[in-house]
Amino acid sequence: MNDIDRELAIVSLYPRDMNIYGDRGNVLSLSRRAAAHGFSPRVVDVNPGDPLPDTIDIIVGGGGQDSGQGRVALDLAQRADQMRTLADDGVPMLMICGLYQLFGHRFITHAGDELTGIGVLDVETLGGTERMIGNVVLDTEAFGEIIGYENHSGSTQLGPGSAPLGRVVQGAGNAPGAGVEGARTANVIGSYLHGSLLPKNPALSDFLIGEAARRRYGSFTPVAATPDTVLRARESAKRRPR
Ligand code: GLN
Repeated sequence: MNDIDRELAIVSLYPRDMNIYGDRGNVLSLSRRAAAHGFSPRVVDVNPGDPLPDTIDIIVGGGGQDSGQGRVALDLAQRADQMRTLADDGVPMLMICGLYQLFGHRFITHAGDELTGIGVLDVETLGGTERMIGNVVLDTEAFGEIIGYENHSGSTQLGPGSAPLGRVVQGAGNAPGAGVEGARTANVIGSYLHGSLLPKNPALSDFLIGEAARRRYGSFTPVAATPDTVLRARESAKRRPR
């Protein structure tokens, strides 16, 4: 079978409530990149109350205001066992900002409300009054240099069950002074870097696609090149002051 005949089912988790700072860009970019590698991507939006599809290859979720997180937290809690089973089975997942926080153990808002997370990532988050906003550059072992944009007030602490996604070269990352950004447990990645993350970092898309393809089809042969437009966008993100 050619990769061209191979479907990849991408679940976009809670796009109605959790989709700010261009988070839909991650889904679009992943889908385009999968097609460039010769797959037939199929994006399934899952909002609160919707069933998860029978076949899931990749799950991507975005960020939102504290109020949006409140709207999805209960629905997510009801899917906690299913999400843990999928994560344990190696389904690659990328959770940004608000859902990064809810994939951890808990998020306590700056108003003191506690939102219970599903604990797929070993992190917990405390809301603050100071916002961390701006372009971010990370140094990562797995994906090389990562470029992104953050906008959050939550400060996230990692436990021993998750490794940071990368070391902060520019920006704040998980918390003021933390020096690290994001979290990873096996194939599940959480990050504060929003909807320009996958468009600007094809290596990360290729990781998600590659893990998904190997899990479902037993192999992955990357063929897509990195377009010049992406290389230029990465350079300009590094130049722009915070
Ligand atoms: N409410 C969370 C915070 O500010 C998440 C925000 C976001 O998803 N950008 O920390």
